[in-house]
This record gives sequence, C-alpha cells and structure tokens, in this order.
Amino acid sequence: MVQQDSIVVDVIIVGSGGAGLAAALDAMEQGATVAVVERETEMGGATVISGGGCFFSATPLQAEKGIQDTTELALAEWLRWGQGSADEEWARFYIENTSEHLFQWLADLGVHWDAINHQEGNSVPRWHHPEGGGKQLWQVMYDAAVARGVDHWLTNTAATELIVEKDKVTGLRVQRRDTSEILELRARSVVMATGGFMSNVDMIRSYRPDLHSARLMEGSHVGATGDGHKMVEGIGGTLTHMDHMWMYAYATPDYRDPSEKRGLVVRGLPDYVWVNAQGRRFHNETLSGGASATPAVLAQEPQYCWAIVDDSMRKGADISDPYYRDGGTKHLERIETLFRESPFIKTASSIEALAEEAGLPVAEFQQAIQRYNSYIDEGLETDPEFGRPLAGRKKIEEAPFFAIQFFPLSRKSFGGVKTDLQCRVLDGGGKPIPGLYAAGELTGMAGGHINGRAGLEGTMLGPALFSGRVAGAWAAHGANKGRGFAGK
Ligand SMILES: Cc1cc2nc3c(=O)[nH]c(=O)nc-3n(C[C@H](O)[C@H](O)[C@H](O)COP(=O)(O)OP(=O)(O)OC[C@H]3O[C@@H](n4cnc5c(N)ncnc54)[C@H](O)[C@@H]3O)c2cc1C
Repeated sequence: MVQQDSIVVDVIIVGSGGAGLAAALDAMEQGATVAVVERETEMGGATVISGGGCFFSATPLQAEKGIQDTTELALAEWLRWGQGSADEEWARFYIENTSEHLFQWLADLGVHWDAINHQEGNSVPRWHHPEGGGKQLWQVMYDAAVARGVDHWLTNTAATELIVEKDKVTGLRVQRRDTSEILELRARSVVMATGGFMSNVDMIRSYRPDLHSARLMEGSHVGATGDGHKMVEGIGGTLTHMDHMWMYAYATPDYRDPSEKRGLVVRGLPDYVWVNAQGRRFHNETLSGGASATPAVLAQEPQYCWAIVDDSMRKGADISDPYYRDGGTKHLERIETLFRESPFIKTASSIEALAEEAGLPVAEFQQAIQRYNSYIDEGLETDPEFGRPLAGRKKIEEAPFFAIQFFPLSRKSFGGVKTDLQCRVLDGGGKPIPGLYAAGELTGMAGGHINGRAGLEGTMLGPALFSGRVAGAWAAHGANKGRGFAGK
C-alpha cells in the first residue's frame, strides 16, 4: 500500500546519527521544517557508540593548556597522514572552521570538552574528548533537535528509494519495518546521512578484492550497510575512493553473535605481545592503529594474529562495545565472562600449554616470548627486532596466560558519495543533482574522501558532524529558507 504525500516538509534527513542531527539542527536554524527518517528502532547510529573524540585545531581548550597549533600545521599533518589521497579543499574547509563552527557550536549546545589527547601522527594534542563520549554528545544534539522542534521523527523506517521528477530529487520512498507499509515523503531538499558500509562485508569485498581470503569482522553500527550509497548511485550520484577504509587489527569475534561476523575491539592492553600463526612476533605492537598494524596483520599467512597477555595485564582489558562499556561505565563481569567463554580466547597455566591451546608451534612461541622478556630484563630501551619502545613495558610472566585471536575489523568508510563544499551530491559530470545533499560517513566523512587512505584519530566524527551542519544549512537554502552555511 502506498500512501501518497503523507508527509511534506522543506528538508528530509535520512539517518539519525551525528551528521543527520547536525543537518536537522542547521536546517531548523534557517527556518526549515524537517523530517528525520531512521531505519533502526534505536536512533544514533555509529555516533552514539563512538568514543566521541574529535580532531580540532587552534581551540580555546588547546590555548588554555598551552598547546600552540595553527591551521597550516594541522593541515600539513592531516595531508601527510592521508598518503596523498585526502581532499585538500575539504580538509582545509574543516580545519579552518573547526574551532568556531564545531568545537564552540557543540559547547554552546551543552557538550563539555573534558580532555585533549595526543594521538599518533600529530605533533601536538588535537583529539578533543567530550564528557560521556559519543553517547552523551549525541544526546546533547538530540535534546537540542527536540527542543528546536523536528516536525517528524520516523524510526524503524527504512529509506528505500529517492524520488526524482524532472531531474530533481523531490522526495523519498520509505518502508515501515514493522508493518511493511510504504510511504512517500515529499520535500524540496533531501539530505542523505545514512553512515558508512563497514557492516556489509560483501560490499567491502566488492571494493577490496585483496580482502577476499581474510576473515573480516564487521565493526561499525548495524545500520552501516551501504543503503545510502546504493540509493544515491542509483540516481546517478558519484561514489569515490570506495577502496579507502579504516580497519583495526585488534578485534576478536563476538562469541555472542551466532553469525560470528561481528567483532569486538579490545583495548587497554598496552603490554600485549602479538604473534602470528607460526608463533613469531612480526610487528612493533605499540603501533597498534589502522595505519601500520592492520597492513602488518594482513601481511601474515593466514591473516590473523594472537595477542598474548598474562593475568596482571588481562585485568586492564576494555571492550569497545556498548554491551561491555556503556558510556563511561565498564562492565567488568561481562569482560570476565568473555575471557572465560569465548572460543577465540585461549587460556593456560604455562606458555607451553597456551601454545598447545592456540595451536601454535610450541618451540617457536616459547622462544618468541622468552626473547621478548629478556629485552626487558636487560633494560633495553627498544626492542631490537621491531623497534618497540620498552620503557614501562611489563614482561609476560604471571600465570594464567591468555591468547586472544585478532582478526582485521572494518570500522570506518573513508570513501563515499562525492559532494561539493555545499554538500550537494555531484553526478558523473561533476554537476550537482538538484535537491540532493549528503553528509557524514556516507560521504567518506565529508566531501567524498576528506581523509584519504588514513585518518588521524578524531577526523571521522568531527567531519561527519561538520558536513552535517553544512548540508543542513544548504539544504534549507535550497528550500528557500536561510542563507546557507555561514562558515569561512
Ligand atoms: C565503535 C566506534 C567508535 C568510534 N569512535 C570514533 C571516535 O572516537 N572519533 C572519531 O572521529 N570517529 C569515531 N568513529 C567513527 C564515527 O563515529 C562515525 O564515522 C560517525 O559517527 C558517522 O556519523 P554519521 O552520522 O555519518 O553516521 P551514523 O552515526 O552511523 O548514522 C547513520 C544512521 O543512518 C541510519 N540508516 C542507514 N541506512 C538507512 C536507511 N536506509 N534508512 C534510514 N536510516 C538509515 C543508520 O541506522 C544510522 O542510525 C567510531 C566508530 C565506531 C563504530
């Protein structure tokens, strides 16, 4: 059953994550009426389960802490990290506007920035943490959107098709997931903010044939299945840099997931030692991020590794998943159960027995651990094999011992729908498709590929929110409301 023109607004926003809510807030600020469509029952997407950290440069908080930073320095480091394929125009647009139009804007809405961390690839600390992580940040935005008066919230409702009339997007076909009812929504502008495709392994492999033989864990929100990509591409929108994706190496399958497709990111183990299936170390474990650790694991045969910890280290384990960590609260008893029950985590009272449990060659594995421990005994500053800094590192010595099986986990889409600086979706000829805007991870965080092949930490959520603001303001303008985005 199709119910015609049941809802008519100025701007329809598809997706209730950070980009969608930012778009809603800016569109309403410009005077537009708004409907938000969300496929899942729970709103918030990847944003609500994220760490919430945002990359900002030259903020008042940095200044307060005596951190000197400039746009040019931040941009140079961003572009270097992106390995030659970052979109410089979008990166500059973001960095020049971050302090005022995102850091301060969110603070004015009620976000309390409580810390700045120094992350790999930056010469100064830039990763700004909001109190309560992504969950609280999203909640602040949601409360503001409710207060500002979103006209329609449609949850449990999947967007299925963009409606195009006379070469202009004029609405959206959606399907209620509980009743299967189909509705047509009408608007002058549609903002697509459906997130990434990192929970769709088949789609990932279609853009990355090199990953065909790897066991790949799904690591984003359940809604990150690429619906928006297909809908936009289906009406002539351009997808770009789709092989750029951010993967972590330190994920173990979620034993509670019957499909065993979903992965759990394991953090809080700075002293772990990684060995491959041959029982040998192969990498500087301190460099555990996506830029170097993931290629190192993918270069192993087979493409996985075991992270080895002893009992004292295991207690620090933190699982980046809402079941194990709810905002600031870590559920210790659930982590204990994971270590006890998961078939992907082996435990034994000696290193030799652990090798047997994990199916590792005993002699090779014992030697690898003994050699590593001896570097610490000798007081070496750096591990002579892989250059790992050893100051403050602990030996693997306290039984019982644990081996956690790590597979690559797909987390963030770095390519996506191509847009201009007004977030208008571009067609194959580089021309904007009238009525259609896109933002957030659907657009590789912003513009299509703002980061390039690799992203400094915090350069996903920040640009997703920022492009949401830009898209919302210009979508309202496209509906004859307001002047568009007012940034630099
Ligand atoms: C666990 C985790 C931790 C992270 N931590 C950080 C961090 O600390 N810093 C950082 O920079 N980045 C981080 N990221 C990445 C960052 O959070 C995301 O890139 C960002 O939140 C994406 O925002 P978005 O609004 O574009 O998408 P989302 O927040 O994913 O929202 C998209 C929404 O669209 C909905 N949707 C999808 N298809 C449809 C459809 N057909 N119809 C209707 N709705 C649909 C989805 O259900 C979802 O709710 C993290 C990601 C994860 C998974």
